[in-house]
Amino acid sequence: MSLMLDRRGVLLGLSGGLLAACTTTGRPTISGYEASAAPFYPVDVRPERIKEIVVGLRPGRDGGFRLEAEPFGDKILVHNYGHEGDGVTLSWGCGTLASELVAHTGADDVAIVGAGAQGLTTALILSRMGKRVTVYADKFHPYVTSNVAGALILTAASYGDVPIDTVARVNALARTGFDQYENQPGTGVTRVRHHYLQRRRQDQAEPGEKTLFGCPFNSVTHPTMIDMSLYLPYLMKQARDLGAIFYTKRFESPTELSALSQPVIVNCTGLGAGALFGDEAVHPVWGQLVRLHPQPEIDYSYVAHAGDGQLYMFPRETSIVLGGSRRRDVWSLEPDPTETQRLLYQHGKLAERARRIVSMKVAA
Ligand SMILES: Cc1cc2nc3c(=O)[nH]c(=O)nc-3n(C[C@H](O)[C@H](O)[C@H](O)COP(=O)(O)OP(=O)(O)OC[C@H]3O[C@@H](n4cnc5c(N)ncnc54)[C@H](O)[C@@H]3O)c2cc1C
Repeated sequence: MSLMLDRRGVLLGLSGGLLAACTTTGRPTISGYEASAAPFYPVDVRPERIKEIVVGLRPGRDGGFRLEAEPFGDKILVHNYGHEGDGVTLSWGCGTLASELVAHTGADDVAIVGAGAQGLTTALILSRMGKRVTVYADKFHPYVTSNVAGALILTAASYGDVPIDTVARVNALARTGFDQYENQPGTGVTRVRHHYLQRRRQDQAEPGEKTLFGCPFNSVTHPTMIDMSLYLPYLMKQARDLGAIFYTKRFESPTELSALSQPVIVNCTGLGAGALFGDEAVHPVWGQLVRLHPQPEIDYSYVAHAGDGQLYMFPRETSIVLGGSRRRDVWSLEPDPTETQRLLYQHGKLAERARRIVSMKVAA
């Protein structure tokens, strides 16, 4: 997600200081509320509302994700890893293309290493194709990076040096999987009314431009949002129901992998691919989320940019997700109390504006 946010930041011309800029407008005007179709209830960011604080390491890769097949002794190895902040978004697109590479070998028996969004989606697609699928991973949900993802599904125009025709195909396929689960109980797949807040002040808004919390935004979109705590077990069950088998196993070297009986192996090890295959382009991108107790009345989301970093708020059935952290090459899985404070403070500033707008509306 962070990569996605960065890219979007560039596209929108966000260079920092949104909240600082917006506060200079003073009290938000009632038009900020009226511009939107429904009320924006404030997020309750009081520390006692914290449900948990989680850290994940996005599987970054210089040059973009790796999606290709190569000979591996007497086997074929299909790589599908390095999706950084877009691994959930790209799971159906890359899972489908990886499965096509497998199908091309003619093999019926396939091993998949990794049980995050990429491994499980690829396992499900191959199972639906009638392959005998065995998934090996040293960790399963909720202990995989995919479980930490904010999981807003929005594709980007480019992913590093990945060829443009591949990007076009994975993006075109991105929605195929999620659409089938949308709003189905237990899947965690929903849509949300989503806003990119720009750093210009309301008094700098273009005529007719809408504002939210005193900040202009381009338009409301309705992207898919996924509650990974529900979605990953759901995917796994779907694959299992079609015959996929799951084993807990850690591989320390390619030699260990080559001992597997399957003639085709799909490598969906995310960040683990760096050490396992000596890929030096792989690096972690640290991210922290503060998960608050759920607020069912929050039915909107936003991405914003504060002077001290990015911000996003995603509502879920099981939590309200506050995020926006991004630190390259940090391997720690420890939450940073300073970052927790930043997220609570900056999101709190937006929530305070929402509170004032809602009370102004009620008073009107
Ligand atoms: C804070 C945060 C927010 C994010 N928000 C979004 C978002 O909004 N949208 C989005 O699309 N993405 C988002 N992401 C990115 C997303 O989480 C990742 O891109 C995605 O999870 C990668 O999936 P994966 O299946 O490749 O890897 P993982 O989920 O990390 O799974 C890797 C699997 O491989 C296994 N494995 C690794 N090495 C070995 C080994 N040696 N032996 C055996 N098994 C091994 C692991 O145990 C695991 O099962 C976010 C990430 C973070 C941290």
